[in-house]
Amino acid sequence: MATVSSEFQSNSSQGASSSVRRGAAAVGDQAAEKQQTPLSRYESQKRRDWNTFGQYLKNQTPPVSLSHCNYSHVLEFLRYLDQFGKTKVHLQGCVFFGQPDPPAPCTCPLRQAWGSLDALIGRLRAAFEEHGGSPENNPFGSGAIRVYLREVKECQAKARGILYKKKKKKRTPIKGPHQTAKTTLKQMAS
Ligand SMILES: [Zn+2]
Repeated sequence: MATVSSEFQSNSSQGASSSVRRGAAAVGDQAAEKQQTPLSRYESQKRRDWNTFGQYLKNQTPPVSLSHCNYSHVLEFLRYLDQFGKTKVHLQGCVFFGQPDPPAPCTCPLRQAWGSLDALIGRLRAAFEEHGGSPENNPFGSGAIRVYLREVKECQAKARGILYKKKKKKRTPIKGPHQTAKTTLKQMAS
């Protein structure tokens, strides 16, 4: 696997020197060498995202180093990720535009869901600073990214007919009959 640009790596490895090394046997097991406790889901996802982004920058022509990366690269990265998206976002002209649960398939594109992008930016923003980037120059914290995410959110909310409201309408669950049925089944089974 390709490494992320060296200037950031040198910063990130300062923790490794102090940690106990378990001999040279751990070749190809760099993760275990650096981190002795298993990573949380968030941490490992953050690491994967960071590697993906680093790889994306490397694949640009010409390649972009992390220190030269700015919000426009991040925006391009987010648009690039849309091709791997799994969320149907109806176009204005689609008959299903605004329908949360269309009865038939359509040719509208699949996109990354707003929530995924929002969480991704949060992880990359943290990773950038963990790898020695300064908060003032954090491209993931740029206002342009916030504006883009807000647009995606609104556009997807309209296209799918889902409004992201702060307060969800709560429906009072009907408990009585269900519980009775459950108990009855349990009693029948025993
Ligand atoms: Zn559609």
